[in-house]
Amino acid sequence: MANHDVPEVKEDIETPELHEGATAHLAIFPAQEKHMVPLGFPGARVENWQQAGVDKLKDLLEKYRSLQVYLDICVKCGSCTDKCHYFLGTGDPNNMPVQRAELMRSVYRRYFTPSGKFFPQLVNARDFDEETLKKWVTYFHQCSQCRRCSVFCPYGIDTAEITMAAREIMDAIGVGHKYSQEIIGKVHTIGNNLGIPKPALNGTLRFMEDEILDATGQEVRLPVDVKGAEVLMVAPSADFFSAPHVESLMGYAKVFHAAGVSYSFSSIASEAANFGMFIGSYEQKRKIASRIAEQARELGVKRIVVGECGHAWRVAYSFWNTLVGPFDTLDPRYPVPQHICEFTNDLYKRGGLTFDKETNDDKVVTFHDSCNVARASRMGDTPGGQFTIPRDLIRATCNHYADMDADTIHEKTFCCGGGGGLLTDELMDLRIKGMLPRVTALKQVMKHDKVNFLALICAICKAQFSKVLPYYDIPMDTVGGVHQLVNNAIVLGKNKGVV
Ligand code: SF4
Ligand code: SF4
Repeated sequence: MANHDVPEVKEDIETPELHEGATAHLAIFPAQEKHMVPLGFPGARVENWQQAGVDKLKDLLEKYRSLQVYLDICVKCGSCTDKCHYFLGTGDPNNMPVQRAELMRSVYRRYFTPSGKFFPQLVNARDFDEETLKKWVTYFHQCSQCRRCSVFCPYGIDTAEITMAAREIMDAIGVGHKYSQEIIGKVHTIGNNLGIPKPALNGTLRFMEDEILDATGQEVRLPVDVKGAEVLMVAPSADFFSAPHVESLMGYAKVFHAAGVSYSFSSIASEAANFGMFIGSYEQKRKIASRIAEQARELGVKRIVVGECGHAWRVAYSFWNTLVGPFDTLDPRYPVPQHICEFTNDLYKRGGLTFDKETNDDKVVTFHDSCNVARASRMGDTPGGQFTIPRDLIRATCNHYADMDADTIHEKTFCCGGGGGLLTDELMDLRIKGMLPRVTALKQVMKHDKVNFLALICAICKAQFSKVLPYYDIPMDTVGGVHQLVNNAIVLGKNKGVV
């Protein structure tokens, strides 16, 4: 493990002392021409970038009324100041949500309010100059768009929307982040974030079929591009190759097999994730999502099920219909889309699956609510289903479960520290520090309830926790998917055709 400054984990989450500029030195790798141009952005910073940036802000203010409202209505009450995991982990005041948003508000005041135009110093209005842009690049890439701050804001100001707008403006002037742009490029050229071509995808799925056959004696299929399948299964590409993600993929396959429901992955829509949201680009979000809608039509499926990926679920649940809908070729009896937890839990409740909980008896499980599922979407047809359904499924597959502190779960959950396009090596220092509040709550239940397994429904959370928890002396195999528990507990060959 590389050397990093790891904050001390206290008994409880504490508000840190202020450290002005504590993370000002953290720099992202800039996107290059080859990443930017194919996505329709300038290849380098444009000559008239200051005016172009202000023009783009004007454009966004006209397009998104919410942005203007968020920039206008903050009363500086301070309720959000200690709610961001990056502030709690770093003490940098620019990581207070109100202060982060002020980086844009001050520019907004300068160019779009009479007082800012004529008396900028009186209202703390700021030019969109070199120094301001540097702060934007730094601190709008220290926000994981988790929306926790908005839960505590009396006006519901969504700082994540401000971050998305800032990144959209920066892309428009040719100042992009390599990590997100490169990944989006791979989705368009190869089909998925990891750049897995079809032959490799096929190879890994055949390998998993062999693994399951060896372990269970059952011929469980992981099919690709099958026309006429009932379900199009859209998983994050990390599920095909990364650990612990693959365990969940095997869990999905066993669920379909056990219930006798035909399904298929797609080699073209081989990615549930949608980084278009992270860079704030409606057009990229639409292009990435449209691959899935087209594949659903092409394969003639009746329903679409989405795997364990937090922001993918937000895009699917909250935006698909207006982005790429209507999904009129699908069977209207089923929700569009459906989350894999909802799908599995529903089958289980209707007698379509059998679980042997004792297979998970070596585990005391807790559940981490992923931000984009908890605060930006729902699951099932009951309010709060995004909280109850994954927990119901865990309890159906395990005998031992304990929740973390109530102030750190459900809609108050803390980000893993790697969301929003920040799961990149150059930000490892931030990712470690940003995980502090979640680790504090996790260590509490490890101590008091003997928890030894952190169940997740997000590919980014899985990657972030398994890489960063060892810095806090927690083994990486403490982490796994909810469908990893399903994969262990499911009894094959019992329920086929029950529902
Ligand atoms: S959206 Fe999340 S990461 Fe961004 S400022 Fe708010 S709490 Fe921090
Ligand atoms: S809680 Fe809302 S109104 Fe209060 S300072 Fe934060 S963003 Fe502004």
